[in-house]
Amino acid sequence: MVATEQSTKRRIIATNKMKQMMSEYYYELDSAAKSKDKKVAWCSSVGPAEILRSFGFYVYFPENHGAMLGTSRMATDLIPYANAIGYSPDICSYLTSDIGAYLQKVTPLSNAYKGIISIPKPDVLVFNTNQCRDIQDWFRFYAKEFHAPLLGVYTHRGIKDVTEIHVSSVAHQMEQLIEPLEKVSGTTFDKKNLKKVVSLSRECSDLWKSVLETAATVPSPLTFFDATIHMGPAVVLRGTHHAVDYYKILLAELKARVKNHEGAIDNERFRLYWDGMPIWGRLRTHSELCASHRACIVASTYCNSWIFTDFDDKDPFRSMAKAYTKLFIVRSDEAKEKYIEKIIEFYKIDGVIFHDSKTCPNNSNNRYGMPQRVEEKTGITSLVINGDLNDLRCLSDEQFKTNVEAFIEQLEDKK
Ligand code: SF4
Repeated sequence: MVATEQSTKRRIIATNKMKQMMSEYYYELDSAAKSKDKKVAWCSSVGPAEILRSFGFYVYFPENHGAMLGTSRMATDLIPYANAIGYSPDICSYLTSDIGAYLQKVTPLSNAYKGIISIPKPDVLVFNTNQCRDIQDWFRFYAKEFHAPLLGVYTHRGIKDVTEIHVSSVAHQMEQLIEPLEKVSGTTFDKKNLKKVVSLSRECSDLWKSVLETAATVPSPLTFFDATIHMGPAVVLRGTHHAVDYYKILLAELKARVKNHEGAIDNERFRLYWDGMPIWGRLRTHSELCASHRACIVASTYCNSWIFTDFDDKDPFRSMAKAYTKLFIVRSDEAKEKYIEKIIEFYKIDGVIFHDSKTCPNNSNNRYGMPQRVEEKTGITSLVINGDLNDLRCLSDEQFKTNVEAFIEQLEDKK
């Protein structure tokens, strides 16, 4: 039987502060891109942002723009424009919707921030293949368009244990970025600056980890849907005081909720884990659907990806290499499964949802038997749903609803 007691979702007050910060971030980027003296660097979301900030670059993250294309539901209509110039509908829909938006000269930034009419032109683009290969092709397109240098770090993938070989290879590649970045920025590298930025990134990461871990409390003060929005500063502002200050505010609010036994949703009954990409264009619908069934998605692989506990300002290059290689997405199935097992225990999970995201195999972990293996090991039921991060043509809303409802009935029977 599905629980019938209705539940609603509580709004996080710090959201206003976060929106203001994100707005300042985009206006600063816009003005830097228009100025002659300031330089803009594009960086992949788990790329070496700390090195770029240490040079004083204004750092833009195309994946955040991709997510905005998703949440604004502009993405689906823009993808065919990128398909028309040779980018397959089967590859990353961040890439295809973002390139489609560029070709059509539109951006969700214009609706969100008055006066911004385009994405910021890059002076340099830097990626790390730790997440996937699509990111490199995505950046290559823009490097050609804007005649800007393209720099990359190539990371081993499918790693079981991160070893000295992995760390020294990635650290060496990061050090190799210094010389070309000195040329682009016109400034000399200063290790003291890098140490400062790495230390701020570590502080941001520790606070973000504490924010996410408040969800281990029953009832959880935070949902996965909240976290996908509040992770913005950890992605685009890590390495700055702004992100650190923000997470102190957010953490205080969530701790107060914990103290008052206030859940993110009323009458929490089921605690779920989400593996894979969010479906950006359906965050609200999915959040309301879960809340209406008293199901709280308390944790996710995705939001945990911006926790970098290995950052160490005493050894910036090697610690960055380690942190950016230890990420879930870089690891073997064996390492991933161990991680999920721990999370299931820590967050007291009743059920796992694996999102098979059509255009992101890198973040779809269900395709080679993982749900079955995790279920066998933990006894925790799982559900695989088909969808996509940005291409809403890959999702059936009706099927999603039916599947989630049937899953919750299954969990109810197990209670
Ligand atoms: S990890 Fe997935 S969503 Fe992210 S850039 Fe790569 S293919 Fe796209």
